Amino acid sequence: MELFQHTLAQKITLEGEGVLSGERIRVELCPAPPNHGLVIERADLNPPVRIPVRPENALAVPGAMVLARGPYRVVYVEHLLAALNGLAVDNLLIRVFGEELPLFDGSAKNYVEAILGVGRRPQWSLRRYIRLEEEIVVRDEKGFVALRPAEGLHLSCVIEFPHPAIGRQEFRLDLSQERFVSELSFARTFAFLDDLVALRKSGALRGGSLENAIVLDQHRVLNPDGLRTPDEFVRHKALDLVGDLYLLGAPLLAEVEAQKASHRLHLDAVKAVWEAVYAWRWYPSPAKVPFSPALQPAMAV
Ligand SMILES: [Zn+2]
Repeated sequence: MELFQHTLAQKITLEGEGVLSGERIRVELCPAPPNHGLVIERADLNPPVRIPVRPENALAVPGAMVLARGPYRVVYVEHLLAALNGLAVDNLLIRVFGEELPLFDGSAKNYVEAILGVGRRPQWSLRRYIRLEEEIVVRDEKGFVALRPAEGLHLSCVIEFPHPAIGRQEFRLDLSQERFVSELSFARTFAFLDDLVALRKSGALRGGSLENAIVLDQHRVLNPDGLRTPDEFVRHKALDLVGDLYLLGAPLLAEVEAQKASHRLHLDAVKAVWEAVYAWRWYPSPAKVPFSPALQPAMAV
């Protein structure tokens, strides 16, 4: 666990293809002050529109998580949020010059490399966790997400697809920054060729290629280099879960079991936690932090 909040040591600028629009999209990750939280900005609008990363601004659509305010939205926020949750970045202004974040290679790798490249900057405000104290379970017709009290963030994911390259896959991880980087950050999203063809025909998808995802036909993986790990599919589900859980606006302390879950079910779980005020408390709680001169640095950042 981190005692203090962090932002980035420097601004990061990234650019990549938006698969919905087919256009190049710029993203700026700008350091922000303590207690600012994560805020996403539609920087292409005049005036720009800011959307705080919070459960009430999130919207799950098939295959993507969206942050929206009125008619303005940003699609595919989950892999960036996963990188920020995995690397414990608390305060950031995310300026996006378009309606979607680039998918890059379909994983969180580009974000993670960029963040590790500039490093984080500690801020002298306490980091507050949402510490679950009672079990919460949400279900849909396919699967469930169960959250139970725990000292860290422990994930367990199961997926099942009737496809020869996927089948049933299970993955468990006690999350740390190191394990996030080495076990999850590289796992790419996946899509079925038939679905992509239909989306292309309908005009919903103007970009996208084997560079942005694992693509499967009815029998096999079509990417010439194959998979990064045999269980890359379920690892990507765990990556999505790490990102979607950060929609809480604060890090979560819980054991999270997700079986055949979707972005929609992840968001149901996030909203259920947020609304069940009896089931969690802030940790450390402000009243229980003893004043310690050792925690008062000479220079405020
Ligand atoms: Zn994903």
